[in-house]
Parts: sequence; C-alpha cells; structure tokens
Amino acid sequence: MFDDIPVEVGLIHVGERIRKNDMYVEFGGPDIKEKFELVRVRKSDQVTDGKITVIGPDISAMDPQKKYPFGILIEIAGSQLEEDIEGVIERRIHEYCNYIEGFMHLNQRYDIWVRLSKKAFNKGFTSLSYVGKVLERLLKSELPIIESMQITFYTDAKEISLVYEEAKKAYETRDARARGLTDEEVEVFYGCALCQSFAPSHVCVITPQRYANCGAISWFDGRAAARIDPKGPIFSIEKGVCLDKEMGEYSGVNESAKKRSLGEVNRVYLYSAFKYPHTSCGCFEGIAFYIPEVEGFGTVMRGYRDVTVNGLPFSTMADSTAGGRQVDGFHGISLEYMRSPKFLASDGGFARIVWMPSDLKEQLRSFIPPDLFDKIATEKDVKTIEELKKFLADREHPVCDRWEETALTPSEEIALHGPVYSVGDLPITSAGFKIIFKNARIYADRVTIQPVKSKKPEKEK
Ligand code: SF4
Repeated sequence: MFDDIPVEVGLIHVGERIRKNDMYVEFGGPDIKEKFELVRVRKSDQVTDGKITVIGPDISAMDPQKKYPFGILIEIAGSQLEEDIEGVIERRIHEYCNYIEGFMHLNQRYDIWVRLSKKAFNKGFTSLSYVGKVLERLLKSELPIIESMQITFYTDAKEISLVYEEAKKAYETRDARARGLTDEEVEVFYGCALCQSFAPSHVCVITPQRYANCGAISWFDGRAAARIDPKGPIFSIEKGVCLDKEMGEYSGVNESAKKRSLGEVNRVYLYSAFKYPHTSCGCFEGIAFYIPEVEGFGTVMRGYRDVTVNGLPFSTMADSTAGGRQVDGFHGISLEYMRSPKFLASDGGFARIVWMPSDLKEQLRSFIPPDLFDKIATEKDVKTIEELKKFLADREHPVCDRWEETALTPSEEIALHGPVYSVGDLPITSAGFKIIFKNARIYADRVTIQPVKSKKPEKEK
C-alpha cells in the first residue's frame, strides 16, 4: 500500500517526537499566525479524485531548519457523505500523519504544528505529495463512503490567508451547531479513544455541553462518526443513570471509562476539575489551572507564549495535566467547552475564573456573564498572585466570598496545602523493593529536593 513512499508508514510511528536539532523543516507551529487543516464535503463534480496539489514551495525547495506557513485542505465527495462528518475526518489527519516515519503532527484546526525529520528527508521524503498519498489511502480504506478526494497543501502565507477565513467560518458553524442542545436532552454521549496511542488510559467523553478536549469533535461529529464507523475509535456511550447532576456523573460514563481505561479510571465528573475530573491526553486546546492562594481558576490556551499569573507557562502545566490521568486542579479543556453553560459548572463556572489572557477573554466576551467580565484579571492587569489577590478584592470577585469560609471540600483542602503538583506514579526504591504510589496525595509542610552527591572512590593505598 505504501511501496512508493520513501519512509515507513504504520501505527508504530505514532508518538515519535522530532526535536529541533533533528528536524529538517517545520510547518505551522506557534510562530506562524495563520495555519489550518480543513475537510470539506463537496459535490462530486467539484472534486478530482486523487489530485494532490502543493501551493507554494514544496519540501525540496525549502531551506533546512526553517519554519513555513501551512494549510491542508481535503475536499471529499460521496453520495452518503454529509457535512457532519467533516470534523471527524479532519481529526484523522492528526492520527494518519503520525503514521509516517519522521513526520510529526501536533494539535488541530488553527493550531497545527508539524515537523519533518532530517532522516526522512535524506531517505527521499522531499514532497508533501507523499503526505497526501498516505492520507488519501488511509482515509479511503477506513471510510469507504468517501468516493473521491483531492488534497491541497498550502505553504504560501498569502494563499493561506484566503482559505483561512473559510476554515474559521467552518469551525465556528460546526461549534455553534451543538450549542443549544443540553446534556439532559440526549440519551447517548460519545467517547473518543483516538489519543490512547499517546495516553493509554484517556478517553474523551463528548456530550452536547462538553466538547472534546482537542476542540475538534462535537457531539454531532461523534454521532456521525459512530454511525458510519461503529467499530472505529469514536463510539456511543449510553448515559445510564444520572448519579450526580451537579458534578455530571453518569453510570454509563463510569462503566465506559472503566472498560476503556482498563480499570485505571472508574469515575468521571464531567463538570468538575476536582476529585474525579475528566482525564486529559495531551491534545487539549487549553488548561484550567487551580490557583490555591485565591481559590479560583486561571485558564490559558496553547498559543499563549508568556508565563501565566502563577509563574508557569502553558508548556510546564501541560506536562502536569497530560497523560490520561485525573489530576486535581489541572484540567485539559477546549475553547468550545468554555462557551458551554456546563463549563466547570460544579466548581462555580465563570464565577470561579480569576485570570485569563486578554485575547482569550475578548474571544469569550459574549459567553462570560457581563457582571463578571471586569472582575476577571488578565496579564495586562496583574503579573503576580499578590497583585491578583488585590485585584480580585478591589473588584469584589465572587471568589472572595470563599476566602472567609472555613469548611473546605477535600479537594480544596488539598489545593490549599500548596500548588497541586503531579508526579504521576512515584517510585521509591529501597533495599531491593520498589514501592509505587499511584494517584497518592501527600501532605507536607515543606519539601526539600537535594542533589545526590556521589561518593568519591577511596584512594588505593
Ligand atoms: S482529544 Fe479527545 S476527542 Fe480529540 S482526538 Fe483525542 S481522544 Fe479524540
């Protein structure tokens, strides 16, 4: 199937990381403002089957170690295809690109970040048309309802700008469609296990009011995917009995999490970042992070380059959040979930949000309750926790009411003992035994980390 591709193609390459020194070229990424990947369903006479086009310089004409603008447009046709399926196929771009040896794809939609390794280039991977061939063959074999497909790669910034607008509109239309439908109104949620190759215990639970962490799959997308590919990575979850309406706990979700995570995750609160939060793989668009000093949450999206108000950048907090674990106070989220009335609803929703980057705040203006908008600080208002505390007190943010409360939930108590850090499974080796603490919570007034000094070998006499 891939004899004409100069590198290997297969599941074995998923998860391969390409470090800066090993990359030949980079596409998209944080330094490129406009980038996208988009799938559109077209009429059959608008698609030339098998056509792969590169608009702008192809890999062979690129300078090594440079960063290039990037866009991928996949146009498909088929008598049974509906627009519903666009988002689902779009998400497979991430998966299938990562099948290619020496080709790393991160994120989704307007956040894509791709690298080609020097090794792959030296093996002859000198054209994006190889990526096109792999995508076309894998997508068609997985989803036979795709009758024809043409793929266009963009590496020219001006050309990208033209399609970028169409892409943004398409994302917004898709996201808006699921708004208005509530979790209570449907009997079935959807699960997605696409990211288990990176985070084996992670499954996204996609409900009308809790969009997938990557921001790429809505409840409607999940429904379409489960219908056309019932044995695929996106599947239906019968809600079962609602065990806790406020937390968003359902018996069907718990059973599904237990089964799909092989017993690692047994309970899930859909609307809380504490105790049994929804797991996070690594593809989340943003993070809601608890700030114990003010008992509120900050939120930050992947593209934010500065440090946040707690002094940590997105990348550091992403390490604490990812991996398919349930981490108190570090919660992977999508932008669309922030627009949902169920957004961290059991923790207080926007009444618990105390800080976010100014761009994000502006983007969410119409979704943040008007009486709270000016009470949420940004990087333009405060730089430190101390400044944040004063800002919140001056504006009488509702979170201040919690400062006087003494009865704390266990999760808040954990958080109050200091920043919530996660070290995953903590192994302690002693006298031939290795003890592993799994999801342990350790309280300490003080932690000292010291380097181990190696003993100097005794001089021979
Ligand atoms: S983040 Fe969730 S919904 Fe998105 S691809 Fe990964 S598992 Fe699926």
